[in-house]
Amino acid sequence: MVAFNDIRDQFPILGQKIHRHPLVYFDSAATAQKPRCVIDAESNFYETINAGVHRGAHELASRSTVAFEEARTKVAKLVGAAYGEGQEEIVVTSGATAGLNLLATSFGNASQGRGGHEAAGFALKPGDEIVVSKAEHHSVLLPFQELALRTGATLKWFDLTDDGRIRSDMADEIITERTKVVAITHVSNVTGAITDVELIIRRAHEVGALFILDACQSVPHLDIDLHQMDVDFAVWSAHKMYGPTGVGFLYGKRDLLEALPPANFGGSMVELAWMDKPAQYMQPPERFEAGTQPVAQVVAAGAAADWMREIGMANIEAHERSITAELLKLNDIAGFRVLGPVDERNRIGTVSFDVQGVHPHDVGQFFDSKGIAVRVGHHCAQPVHRHFGLFASNRASTGVYNTAEEARQLVETADEVRLFFG
Ligand code: PLP
Repeated sequence: MVAFNDIRDQFPILGQKIHRHPLVYFDSAATAQKPRCVIDAESNFYETINAGVHRGAHELASRSTVAFEEARTKVAKLVGAAYGEGQEEIVVTSGATAGLNLLATSFGNASQGRGGHEAAGFALKPGDEIVVSKAEHHSVLLPFQELALRTGATLKWFDLTDDGRIRSDMADEIITERTKVVAITHVSNVTGAITDVELIIRRAHEVGALFILDACQSVPHLDIDLHQMDVDFAVWSAHKMYGPTGVGFLYGKRDLLEALPPANFGGSMVELAWMDKPAQYMQPPERFEAGTQPVAQVVAAGAAADWMREIGMANIEAHERSITAELLKLNDIAGFRVLGPVDERNRIGTVSFDVQGVHPHDVGQFFDSKGIAVRVGHHCAQPVHRHFGLFASNRASTGVYNTAEEARQLVETADEVRLFFG
């Protein structure tokens, strides 16, 4: 039995008061707070190991390399991926956005003939289709919209049910023989709705398309196994899984990574460089990691992954489902509308809501005056807001440190919002 109330004590930042109230942090979908062990992992690295990775002829460089590569193994274990012994499937990026741009740029490069015959499977041409959904974060929508513009491919999308779920039942209709790429969020950062990705992945593979999973909002909350899910690529950010900012991960099936042309160019990704002919690039993951890597942050992200596995992803999921269920009581307050499925089994972590007649910024400020941190705005997902007839909303999102008591406090404060703004 995990004592979640004690877990809160591992987060130094949560000990403080905001406007004389104990801090209640419900903004983990934007970024999660960091436990002491993650903060220590980063500062210990700087105090005892700090050096560039790979090819250093000194002891610190080799320790740094070991720590960097071990961290990837820890992260791989968290998501059911492989790392090591020729099966390196985890690429370091600066975040999910960078991972998605890497893929879109790389597919664009393949479309222009880069990467030779091996990369031909990633090439797009006019008439080909790229499929996303209306629930996507702009970090998925925009890179693939640009890729469509760059290659002449057509961008298509899954529509949403009235309660904001991706219409995966329409997979056979939307994904066709012309579809080359499907990029879909696992959990919406607005509604918290869990996508029924199984159907979509099966259909994508049936027509030979690549499936990319945006796992930003699922890795922190759900026990996921990328191998079992059979996704081709997946992206997520370390800072949403209790790790540092500035780091993210791209998972790719090994054979796909080996065939994928690079997207960023520079130091540490090249085997041989000449003045008068194209360079010969390294094997993955280095081929995709041009420039000096954020080693301390990757090491700390590895500590975060181990810490999460120690608590147990099934325990984390169960805990956050119970907090989410408490937050859904917002829907019972007059004038409040929770966006997304009302059935708590179909969602996790994120509860966005609209308060009739009150601007989200006013609502957010009211919560802040009570020490409760929520997010306001469109959460970088305008199409899904438009689906609900809104431009912006308020968003409460959970982390392992939230308690049922905090959730009740948020709901009680919401009741006061209604009274305060009349
Ligand atoms: N996808 C989803 C679902 C997200 O919630 C986010 C971040 O809010 C992103 C992508 C982009 O992540 P990052 O800003 O860390 O690159």
